[in-house]
Amino acid sequence: MTSSASPAPTPRPVLNRRLAEFGTTIFAEMSALALRTGSINLGQGFPDTDGPEEIREAAVRALRDGRGNQYPPGPGVPELRTAIAAHQERRYGLTYDPDAEVLVTAGATEAIAAALLALLEPGDEVIALEPYYDSYAACIAMAGGTRAPVTLRPHEGSFRLDLDELRDAVTDRTRLLLINTPHNPTGTVLTREELTAIAELAVERDLLVVTDEVYEHLVFDDAGHLPLATFPGMRERTVTIGSAGKTFSFTGWKVGWVTATQELTSAVRSAKQFLTYVASGPFQYAIAEALRLPDSYFEEFRADMRVKRELLAGGLEQAGFTVFRPAGTYFITTDIRPLGETDGFAFCRALPERAGVVAIPNAVFYDHREQGAPFVRFAFCKRTDVLEEAAARLKTLGR
Ligand code: PMP
Ligand code: GLN
Repeated sequence: MTSSASPAPTPRPVLNRRLAEFGTTIFAEMSALALRTGSINLGQGFPDTDGPEEIREAAVRALRDGRGNQYPPGPGVPELRTAIAAHQERRYGLTYDPDAEVLVTAGATEAIAAALLALLEPGDEVIALEPYYDSYAACIAMAGGTRAPVTLRPHEGSFRLDLDELRDAVTDRTRLLLINTPHNPTGTVLTREELTAIAELAVERDLLVVTDEVYEHLVFDDAGHLPLATFPGMRERTVTIGSAGKTFSFTGWKVGWVTATQELTSAVRSAKQFLTYVASGPFQYAIAEALRLPDSYFEEFRADMRVKRELLAGGLEQAGFTVFRPAGTYFITTDIRPLGETDGFAFCRALPERAGVVAIPNAVFYDHREQGAPFVRFAFCKRTDVLEEAAARLKTLGR
């Protein structure tokens, strides 16, 4: 029997076009691979030791005392907002009104999402430093924006920004610069000169700036963290994002924040209230205490991470990788070409089998995937014995 009915239409995919290109985050994929293969996980950036005991106890106390067990105020508990403002003032001389200019978020992840959803109109262009943290691309897409990557390229041992390229990337449709320093995954810390140029460009072209500074306390050697908001003309146009996850080694608590002018904070809050509304009640009280820890905590944390950096960097060098020693963050980007490899994806997928270690292919952080192909990222926020074992295993690669 013949039918006159037209052929069945191809079913419409359930995932919308904005998100279709993103798939599963590399962090979930690689952590699952580590679990499945029993490998050492130097992929996803989380410490294998919890943060200070007294801060854990502060969270327990808050929970027991019934502080934060019900919805906290939308902008965050006053104790934490005050502590965030005091931290910005004490470290950087930046003053923010805890009531109007500070917003607590569910990690930096929500702060990034809320800022982009609040500040972008569909079609607006966002300039971001490539390779970029994977949630940037997804959040720009969810906000209907277009991303315009400016690529950090290897230069004398670190990945650097080409300021002419940055200037050339600005068009009439550019609305926002999305900056990240210290930079994940390259470990680059932008210099005073680079930040000055970024600030001048933002002022000249009247751009908003969202700056992700979650690794502000993880800077090594002579590199110092300079918040973009401290540069001339920047406080009034900059949304600064911080997070307790990296600084206090409690990534699961998901306490992040935004500091910005009243107008910008209020805009970000407009989006944030419809994402989580609020999160992490009791943990907010604990992080308020953490932010008031003495300078010695931050110094010891940094010194400890520096030792770990040296340990893993040395191991990777001995294993034959070219190592870009990071000035900040707890990630080391390597070049795998000296090992006779060119494809970071294939290399990372095979690494558990070959050496019992998991790492992240930097290509996932690139629009121009081929540019990131030979680079692979290893996290060093792990116990010394774990890093030593990983280094020993990686040494077998060249054999
Ligand atoms: N930005 C960068 C650059 C990151 O590496 C991460 C991962 N910690 C985040 C944001 C997200 O931070 P959070 O865990 O506080 O959401
Ligand atoms: N920021 C962490 C990293 O770069 C991952 C956080 C996540 O899994 N979303 O490894």
